[in-house]
Amino acid sequence: MKIKPIIAGNWKMHKSPSEGKTFISSIKNLLLDLKHVSVIFAPPFTGLFDMDVMPPFYSAAQNCHWEEKGAFTGEISVSMIQDCGAEYVILGHSERRHVFSESDNWINKKVKAVLAGELKPILCIGETLDQRNAMETDLVLKSQLELGLSGVNSLENIVIAYEPVWAIGTGVTADKNQVESAHATVRNILNELFPKSENIHVLYGGSVNPGNAEELIQVPGVNGFLIGGASLDVESFTSITQIVENIQ
Ligand code: PEP
Repeated sequence: MKIKPIIAGNWKMHKSPSEGKTFISSIKNLLLDLKHVSVIFAPPFTGLFDMDVMPPFYSAAQNCHWEEKGAFTGEISVSMIQDCGAEYVILGHSERRHVFSESDNWINKKVKAVLAGELKPILCIGETLDQRNAMETDLVLKSQLELGLSGVNSLENIVIAYEPVWAIGTGVTADKNQVESAHATVRNILNELFPKSENIHVLYGGSVNPGNAEELIQVPGVNGFLIGGASLDVESFTSITQIVENIQ
């Protein structure tokens, strides 16, 4: 079965709610007839409410807490995200892991909470440059997948995003051989953990732009992109999406 690619834009801490609305409306006007691609916008929490999106456009939160409610100042629960109409939640992004010290254990609790709330986690994994140089990439991916997905019964509603930390926001993209090899590793690990996981989306993320999208989307095992910087600009984001649409 052919997997419909996903192009997800992670806005990080950019765009106010009104800027986000204007941005989405421009994108929708430029991408009127998408048939082969799903597009996800992940604004900051403040922009999630009242987003005007319908398939093939979806919205995602960039994080969540695993508890349903309580004394967790500054946190947002899965049901709050659901109430905004979002379908996906990005979890384990490298900035959450490395800037905010999120552990695999926390990420795992979040994955399970998101699934229990009938939303879809986009679980990000990826090695640092030191880990790559120490030839630890496969070990890191295995450990992040095993721990992040511990206690999960099925991958049916899960998207995995392979994002080498050294390629995020740096302008350095993993080359196609590195991407192919990491995606093959991810697939092998997933197949071991979940024998019927062949239809799972595995996205690539790390300095994707209109100049490299065509090559990267054709790398075996890549089912779309998670995009940071280039997702903030109407022209770049529509151009990447259109490139992927045209190749399907
Ligand atoms: C990201 O934030 O997930 C990302 C891949 O960022 P960028 O595209 O800017 O490297």
